Amino acid sequence: MFSKVLIANRGEIALRILRACKELGIETVAVHSTADAHAMHVRLADESVCIGPPPAGESYLNIPQILAACEITNADAVHPGYGFLSENARFAEILEAHNIGFIGPKSEHIRVMGDKIQAKQTAESLGIPVVPGSDGAVRSLEEARKVAEEIGYPVLIKAAAGGGGRGMKVAENADVLATALSTAKSEAKAAFGDDAMYMEKYLGKPRHIEVQVFGDGKGNAIHLGERDCSLQRRHQKVWEEAPSPALNVEAREKIGKVCADAMAKLGYSGAGTIEFLYENGEFYFIEMNTRLQVEHPVTEAITGIDLVHEQLRIAAGGELSVKQEDIQFEGHAIECRINAEDPRTFMPSPGTITHYHTPGGLGVRVDSGVYQGYKIPPYYDSLIGKLIVHGRSRVDCMMRLRRCLDEFVVDGVNSTLPLFRDLIDHQDIANGAYDIHWLEKYLELD
Ligand code: ADP
Repeated sequence: MFSKVLIANRGEIALRILRACKELGIETVAVHSTADAHAMHVRLADESVCIGPPPAGESYLNIPQILAACEITNADAVHPGYGFLSENARFAEILEAHNIGFIGPKSEHIRVMGDKIQAKQTAESLGIPVVPGSDGAVRSLEEARKVAEEIGYPVLIKAAAGGGGRGMKVAENADVLATALSTAKSEAKAAFGDDAMYMEKYLGKPRHIEVQVFGDGKGNAIHLGERDCSLQRRHQKVWEEAPSPALNVEAREKIGKVCADAMAKLGYSGAGTIEFLYENGEFYFIEMNTRLQVEHPVTEAITGIDLVHEQLRIAAGGELSVKQEDIQFEGHAIECRINAEDPRTFMPSPGTITHYHTPGGLGVRVDSGVYQGYKIPPYYDSLIGKLIVHGRSRVDCMMRLRRCLDEFVVDGVNSTLPLFRDLIDHQDIANGAYDIHWLEKYLELD
């Protein structure tokens, strides 16, 4: 096992990783920007190193500074968390070249999955179902027209380098195809410096269902069930739950096995998430994230498995701690992302938290890096914390979640707590009857 891990991240996820390291007797190094000098992950780490000024490009994304921090502190591995450098294949390679462990998959797998066209082709070759669409990139309007005729309108034009929903345009019919293609291309060029595009059938009312996988890098892999993250606003997940209200045991086992077998074939190492759109009983691969996800705690709640322990063990060359047949899914878990944002307009609301009280009790987990008197800096994402509630059934979980939302107090900044207090009383949410467009429609009507 590693003896000292540097955590190249901030906020709740830095703290989450730090806790797992402490439990395994691993020393921790926090890195931070000048804006985060008083952050909780810095206070609780064994050592800390300031790596630069507030903008992430000069601190949390600054590879030479992070390498220097590893050298100064003698860290033998780096956990990148999510966001920042977590899916940067070059970073993983640089660490390897310096004999520092990267707590994540092999760099070649990060690279393949980072290119959406290659990712889709790889997924298909591994037996994972994909959305019907172009075979690789579309190079001209003529080619785009041909593909659209084949798969049928509406079609979705997507950027190979895409992320965060940018460089993506729907073409409802042949008349708007040319405009959609050129808008998507210029958006992709501006955002990613790369305007390679591909096309897919546009699905009207899908759910977002993702499968958590783990590989040991030696040809063994397992799945830890699914998460339903259909409640989204502008492609940002807001509420996540496990298991999905839309799947039965057979469907779960079937898609889980497809994913685990694919990862075994690939020789994948560490944690990964295979994301699907799910419509009319069919799964369609959209992308794979080669890192720990924000919403991983709902999987931990229903399996009892600590995903960061598992990541650390595998990255250090160890084995998976569980076999597929030993994994049991118990009860139901829901996560609410409490952001420092206006609950209706979602305008960020940085500032000082003047009063802070978190709920507790059986089945309640709050992952957060904030405290009373903490000043939320304007430079990073607006996550205050994640409320994760577990119950014996979905009904039980919702009852507990309602109580927790009543108990949670965040004063001094706007938070999205009032949105969740409204959502929990909505009949569609109670019934689990929502798709990826539900939340945006609900917010418009409101
Ligand atoms: P990004 O990496 O930009 O987030 P994704 O491929 O993950 O792009 O897609 C983001 C979101 O766009 C999905 O969660 C879904 O809401 C929507 N989407 C993607 N592909 C399709 C599709 N073929 N049909 C309908 N919606 C889609």
